[in-house]
Amino acid sequence: MAGRDSGFPKVVLVVLDGLGAETAFAEFGWLEALTVSGRAARWTMTCCLPSLSRPLYHTVLSGLPPLAHGIVSNEINVPAREETVFTVARANGRKTAASASHWFAELYHANPYVPAEHREVDDPQAVIQHGRYYSTFDCPDEEVFHAAGSLIRRHAPDFLLLHAPACDTIGHRFGGQSAEYRRTASMAGDLIARYGTDWLEQGYRLVVTADHGMDDIGWHGGTRPAARQVPFYVVGARVSGAQTAPADQLSVAPTVLSLLGLPVPAGMTGVVLG
Ligand SMILES: [Zn+2]
Repeated sequence: MAGRDSGFPKVVLVVLDGLGAETAFAEFGWLEALTVSGRAARWTMTCCLPSLSRPLYHTVLSGLPPLAHGIVSNEINVPAREETVFTVARANGRKTAASASHWFAELYHANPYVPAEHREVDDPQAVIQHGRYYSTFDCPDEEVFHAAGSLIRRHAPDFLLLHAPACDTIGHRFGGQSAEYRRTASMAGDLIARYGTDWLEQGYRLVVTADHGMDDIGWHGGTRPAARQVPFYVVGARVSGAQTAPADQLSVAPTVLSLLGLPVPAGMTGVVLG
Protein backbone atom coordinates (compact mmCIF):
# COMPACT_ATOMS: atom_id res chain seq x y z
CA MET A 1 0.00 0.00 0.00
CA ALA A 2 1.51 3.30 -1.04
CA GLY A 3 1.19 6.30 1.27
CA ARG A 4 -0.47 9.42 -0.08
CA ASP A 5 1.77 12.39 -0.73
CA SER A 6 0.75 15.30 1.51
CA GLY A 7 1.90 17.97 -0.93
CA PHE A 8 4.04 19.59 1.80
CA PRO A 9 7.83 19.98 1.51
CA LYS A 10 9.43 16.73 2.66
CA VAL A 11 12.80 15.94 4.21
CA VAL A 12 14.84 12.81 4.96
CA LEU A 13 17.45 13.48 7.66
CA VAL A 14 20.25 10.89 7.65
CA VAL A 15 22.39 10.75 10.82
CA LEU A 16 25.40 8.45 10.44
CA ASP A 17 26.63 7.63 13.90
CA GLY A 18 30.29 8.45 14.53
CA LEU A 19 31.21 9.59 11.02
CA GLY A 20 33.85 12.33 10.92
CA ALA A 21 33.91 15.03 8.25
CA GLU A 22 37.28 14.11 6.76
CA THR A 23 36.24 10.50 6.13
CA ALA A 24 32.84 11.50 4.76
CA PHE A 25 34.30 13.98 2.28
CA ALA A 26 36.88 11.40 1.13
CA GLU A 27 34.52 8.43 0.79
CA PHE A 28 31.15 9.88 -0.31
CA GLY A 29 31.33 9.70 -4.10
CA TRP A 30 27.67 10.47 -4.85
CA LEU A 31 27.21 13.31 -2.39
CA GLU A 32 30.51 14.88 -3.46
CA ALA A 33 29.46 14.61 -7.12
CA LEU A 34 26.20 16.41 -6.28
CA THR A 35 28.21 19.03 -4.37
CA VAL A 36 30.65 19.82 -7.19
CA SER A 37 27.88 19.78 -9.81
CA GLY A 38 25.85 22.41 -7.95
CA ARG A 39 23.01 20.20 -6.69
CA ALA A 40 24.10 20.03 -3.05
CA ALA A 41 25.88 22.11 -0.46
CA ARG A 42 28.13 20.79 2.26
CA TRP A 43 29.71 22.20 5.34
CA THR A 44 32.27 21.05 7.89
CA MET A 45 30.15 21.17 11.03
CA THR A 46 31.41 21.29 14.61
CA CYS A 47 29.39 19.12 16.96
CA CYS A 48 28.48 20.20 20.47
CA LEU A 49 30.13 18.89 23.63
CA PRO A 50 30.30 16.31 25.00
CA SER A 51 30.82 14.61 21.62
CA LEU A 52 28.65 11.64 22.60
CA SER A 53 25.67 9.97 20.96
CA ARG A 54 22.66 10.32 23.25
CA PRO A 55 23.40 13.97 24.10
CA LEU A 56 23.88 14.84 20.43
CA TYR A 57 20.91 12.86 19.10
CA HIS A 58 18.79 15.27 21.08
CA THR A 59 20.92 18.26 20.06
CA VAL A 60 20.49 17.41 16.36
CA LEU A 61 16.70 17.28 16.75
CA SER A 62 16.14 20.03 19.35
CA GLY A 63 18.72 22.62 18.28
CA LEU A 64 19.83 22.91 21.92
CA PRO A 65 23.30 22.13 23.31
CA PRO A 66 23.61 19.34 25.90
CA LEU A 67 24.28 21.93 28.64
CA ALA A 68 20.82 23.37 27.92
CA HIS A 69 18.79 20.17 27.46
CA GLY A 70 20.57 18.34 30.28
CA ILE A 71 21.38 15.03 28.58
CA VAL A 72 25.17 15.23 29.01
CA SER A 73 25.97 11.49 29.14
CA ASN A 74 24.98 8.35 27.29
CA GLU A 75 23.92 7.02 30.71
CA ILE A 76 21.29 9.72 31.23
CA ASN A 77 18.37 7.84 29.75
CA VAL A 78 15.30 10.05 30.13
CA PRO A 79 12.48 11.06 27.81
CA ALA A 80 13.07 14.41 26.13
CA ARG A 81 10.78 17.30 27.06
CA GLU A 82 12.03 20.01 24.72
CA GLU A 83 10.60 20.96 21.34
CA THR A 84 12.14 19.06 18.44
CA VAL A 85 11.75 18.78 14.69
CA PHE A 86 9.30 15.96 15.45
CA THR A 87 7.09 17.98 17.85
CA VAL A 88 6.99 21.02 15.55
CA ALA A 89 6.15 18.82 12.56
CA ARG A 90 3.33 17.10 14.46
CA ALA A 91 1.96 20.41 15.82
CA ASN A 92 1.67 21.53 12.19
CA GLY A 93 -0.08 18.39 11.00
CA ARG A 94 2.89 16.78 9.26
CA LYS A 95 3.49 13.05 9.11
CA THR A 96 6.61 11.77 10.92
CA ALA A 97 8.68 8.58 10.77
CA ALA A 98 12.00 7.15 11.94
CA SER A 99 14.25 4.18 11.19
CA ALA A 100 16.68 4.47 14.07
CA SER A 101 18.31 3.08 17.18
CA HIS A 102 16.01 2.40 20.11
CA TRP A 103 17.78 5.27 21.89
CA PHE A 104 15.63 7.58 19.76
CA ALA A 105 12.54 5.67 20.90
CA GLU A 106 13.68 6.19 24.50
CA LEU A 107 14.02 9.92 23.86
CA TYR A 108 10.82 10.48 21.90
CA HIS A 109 8.45 7.54 22.13
CA ALA A 110 8.60 5.18 25.12
CA ASN A 111 10.84 5.11 28.18
CA PRO A 112 11.40 2.44 29.38
CA TYR A 113 11.65 0.96 25.92
CA VAL A 114 10.25 -2.57 25.62
CA PRO A 115 11.45 -4.12 22.34
CA ALA A 116 8.52 -6.45 21.81
CA GLU A 117 6.09 -3.57 22.30
CA HIS A 118 7.90 -0.61 20.78
CA ARG A 119 10.19 -1.80 18.01
CA GLU A 120 7.48 -1.27 15.38
CA VAL A 121 5.19 1.71 15.89
CA ASP A 122 2.29 2.85 13.73
CA ASP A 123 0.34 5.30 15.87
CA PRO A 124 -1.20 8.49 14.44
CA GLN A 125 -1.14 10.07 17.92
CA ALA A 126 2.60 9.49 18.52
CA VAL A 127 5.24 12.18 18.06
CA ILE A 128 7.02 9.74 15.74
CA GLN A 129 3.99 8.18 14.06
CA HIS A 130 5.81 5.44 12.19
CA GLY A 131 8.88 4.09 14.01
CA ARG A 132 11.16 1.16 13.26
CA TYR A 133 13.77 0.77 16.00
CA TYR A 134 16.76 -1.58 16.22
CA SER A 135 18.18 -2.69 19.55
CA THR A 136 21.84 -3.33 18.79
CA PHE A 137 24.49 -1.13 17.20
CA ASP A 138 25.60 -4.23 15.30
CA CYS A 139 22.49 -3.86 13.12
CA PRO A 140 23.78 -3.53 9.52
CA ASP A 141 23.24 -0.09 7.98
CA GLU A 142 21.68 -1.81 4.99
CA GLU A 143 18.76 -3.07 7.11
CA VAL A 144 18.23 0.42 8.53
CA PHE A 145 18.05 1.89 5.02
CA HIS A 146 15.68 -0.85 3.86
CA ALA A 147 13.37 -0.10 6.81
CA ALA A 148 13.46 3.61 5.93
CA GLY A 149 12.73 2.82 2.29
CA SER A 150 9.78 0.71 3.34
CA LEU A 151 8.41 3.50 5.58
CA ILE A 152 8.61 5.97 2.72
CA ARG A 153 6.85 3.62 0.31
CA ARG A 154 4.08 2.78 2.75
CA HIS A 155 3.49 6.06 4.51
CA ALA A 156 5.14 8.89 2.51
CA PRO A 157 6.07 10.76 5.71
CA ASP A 158 6.82 14.49 5.47
CA PHE A 159 9.80 14.05 7.79
CA LEU A 160 11.81 10.86 8.20
CA LEU A 161 14.84 10.40 10.45
CA LEU A 162 17.27 7.68 9.38
CA HIS A 163 19.95 6.86 11.96
CA ALA A 164 22.56 4.25 10.92
CA PRO A 165 25.06 2.83 13.43
CA ALA A 166 27.87 1.09 11.54
CA CYS A 167 30.48 3.88 11.34
CA ASP A 168 30.43 4.25 15.13
CA THR A 169 30.50 0.52 15.76
CA ILE A 170 33.37 -0.14 13.35
CA GLY A 171 35.20 3.04 14.38
CA HIS A 172 35.24 1.91 18.01
CA ARG A 173 36.52 -1.52 16.97
CA PHE A 174 39.25 -0.49 14.51
CA GLY A 175 39.83 3.26 14.98
CA GLY A 176 38.91 6.33 12.96
CA GLN A 177 41.93 6.02 10.63
CA SER A 178 41.41 2.34 9.81
CA ALA A 179 40.66 0.75 6.45
CA GLU A 180 37.59 -0.87 8.05
CA TYR A 181 36.19 2.52 9.09
CA ARG A 182 36.78 4.00 5.63
CA ARG A 183 35.10 1.04 3.94
CA THR A 184 32.11 1.28 6.27
CA ALA A 185 31.73 4.98 5.52
CA SER A 186 31.99 4.28 1.81
CA MET A 187 29.25 1.63 2.02
CA ALA A 188 27.01 4.05 3.92
CA GLY A 189 27.61 6.60 1.17
CA ASP A 190 26.58 4.01 -1.41
CA LEU A 191 23.35 3.27 0.48
CA ILE A 192 22.61 7.01 0.55
CA ALA A 193 23.17 7.14 -3.23
CA ARG A 194 20.88 4.15 -3.93
CA TYR A 195 18.00 5.30 -1.76
CA GLY A 196 18.63 9.03 -2.06
CA THR A 197 18.21 8.95 -5.84
CA ASP A 198 14.67 7.59 -5.43
CA TRP A 199 13.80 9.92 -2.58
CA LEU A 200 14.95 13.00 -4.50
CA GLU A 201 12.78 11.89 -7.44
CA GLN A 202 9.85 11.64 -5.04
CA GLY A 203 10.37 15.25 -3.99
CA TYR A 204 12.29 14.77 -0.76
CA ARG A 205 15.13 17.00 0.24
CA LEU A 206 18.03 15.14 1.74
CA VAL A 207 20.11 16.22 4.74
CA VAL A 208 23.09 14.06 5.75
CA THR A 209 25.14 14.54 8.90
CA ALA A 210 26.59 12.75 11.94
CA ASP A 211 26.18 13.09 15.69
CA HIS A 212 29.96 13.17 16.29
CA GLY A 213 33.18 11.92 14.69
CA MET A 214 35.77 9.33 15.69
CA ASP A 215 39.41 9.70 16.70
CA ASP A 216 42.34 7.50 15.69
CA ILE A 217 42.11 5.29 18.78
CA GLY A 218 38.41 4.65 18.21
CA TRP A 219 37.02 7.08 20.73
CA HIS A 220 35.02 10.30 21.04
CA GLY A 221 33.48 12.44 23.76
CA GLY A 222 35.96 15.29 24.02
CA THR A 223 37.37 18.12 21.96
CA ARG A 224 39.72 16.52 19.43
CA PRO A 225 38.88 17.76 15.90
CA ALA A 226 38.48 14.18 14.63
CA ALA A 227 35.75 13.64 17.24
CA ARG A 228 34.06 17.01 16.72
CA GLN A 229 34.06 17.70 12.98
CA VAL A 230 31.17 16.11 11.14
CA PRO A 231 29.76 16.43 7.61
CA PHE A 232 26.62 18.42 6.88
CA TYR A 233 25.14 18.02 3.38
CA VAL A 234 21.92 19.54 2.10
CA VAL A 235 20.71 18.27 -1.27
CA GLY A 236 18.27 20.80 -2.67
CA ALA A 237 19.60 23.85 -0.80
CA ARG A 238 19.54 27.39 -2.19
CA VAL A 239 23.35 27.42 -2.12
CA SER A 240 25.63 24.73 -3.52
CA GLY A 241 29.21 23.56 -3.38
CA ALA A 242 31.67 23.12 -0.54
CA GLN A 243 31.04 25.91 1.96
CA THR A 244 33.97 27.38 3.87
CA ALA A 245 32.01 29.27 6.54
CA PRO A 246 32.01 27.54 9.94
CA ALA A 247 28.86 25.58 10.75
CA ASP A 248 27.54 24.68 14.17
CA GLN A 249 25.46 21.63 15.05
CA LEU A 250 22.77 23.87 16.55
CA SER A 251 21.92 24.69 12.92
CA VAL A 252 20.65 21.20 12.07
CA ALA A 253 17.16 21.43 13.60
CA PRO A 254 16.31 24.95 12.35
CA THR A 255 17.66 24.11 8.89
CA VAL A 256 15.50 20.97 8.67
CA LEU A 257 12.42 22.90 9.89
CA SER A 258 13.12 25.60 7.33
CA LEU A 259 13.37 23.00 4.54
CA LEU A 260 10.04 21.57 5.77
CA GLY A 261 8.49 25.05 5.54
CA LEU A 262 7.79 25.04 9.28
CA PRO A 263 8.29 27.72 11.96
CA VAL A 264 11.52 27.63 13.97
CA PRO A 265 10.89 27.87 17.76
CA ALA A 266 12.59 30.83 19.48
CA GLY A 267 14.72 28.46 21.56
CA MET A 268 16.44 27.11 18.45
CA THR A 269 19.10 29.77 18.01
CA GLY A 270 21.25 28.12 15.33
CA VAL A 271 21.64 29.77 11.95
CA VAL A 272 19.59 28.25 9.11
CA LEU A 273 22.04 26.83 6.55
CA GLY A 274 21.37 26.44 2.88
ZN1 LIG B 1 30.49 5.87 19.79
